[in-house]
Amino acid sequence: MHTTLCGHAIGAPIEYAMVAMEQGINVMTITCHIPMEWEAFGQAGIRMRRDQLDQYRSLVHDTAEKAKPLGVEVLCGIEAEVYPDEAQMEPMDEILAEYEWDFVLGSLHAQCRSYLTWLKKNKVNDDAMRIDSYFRHLKDGAQSGRYDSMSHPDVIRTYGVVSGFKPAEHEDVIRDFLQAVVDEDICMEVNTSGLTKGDFEVHPDPLILDWASEMGVKLTIGSDSHRPNSVGQFFDTIQPMLGEKGFKDLHYFRGRKRIRIDMPKWD
Ligand SMILES: [Zn+2]
Ligand SMILES: [Zn+2]
Repeated sequence: MHTTLCGHAIGAPIEYAMVAMEQGINVMTITCHIPMEWEAFGQAGIRMRRDQLDQYRSLVHDTAEKAKPLGVEVLCGIEAEVYPDEAQMEPMDEILAEYEWDFVLGSLHAQCRSYLTWLKKNKVNDDAMRIDSYFRHLKDGAQSGRYDSMSHPDVIRTYGVVSGFKPAEHEDVIRDFLQAVVDEDICMEVNTSGLTKGDFEVHPDPLILDWASEMGVKLTIGSDSHRPNSVGQFFDTIQPMLGEKGFKDLHYFRGRKRIRIDMPKWD
């Protein structure tokens, strides 16, 4: 979940924790967007500034104290970026190294101006090429050693970057990405925010979850909440599906160490 520091979320973190408590969720990791102070990255005001990081961390730690009596453990994570130009990743790597994080997500926000520019510059014009390129970059991200879990793995289907997404037509490249997640012993995120927008489908697509289950991919789960009342959104609807696909457990991270839990039952 996010904080108002990124400029496109609402509500105080303690309100998110209160909804978590109501939803029967006892561990909540705040993963606001990492600062990207690179002019061409994207629209202004969609990420916190680097000089707000200390404020972010104290906000999360204060929330953790306040949420203890609610029975909700609040952890301090960050949603980092995946991007094909390594030179642009250096300031981000400094931030990842400078602070102790509980959890680092790896996201390729294909809708950001920087990635759209990259696609254009490299003449990746049609939808099929764009989707293949997206999953190849996600695979590179999985292999980079930066991230604990690869988030909203098929978000390229949302926000109009491509006009349609049929995972079956990209099975090889998607399986390559999943294999990298397995080989690197990291996780993939099931992100329920996809059910509220675009194709109204979970990230990743249920077919990708079939492949992931078959290949032994480990999962984290996130609601990607940008407002308190979406905390835990659709966890209850998604959980039986994950069970049917053979997933028996979920994972979260504390101090960047993976912790396994039995698949919870939300109802
Ligand atoms: Zn956001
Ligand atoms: Zn994201």
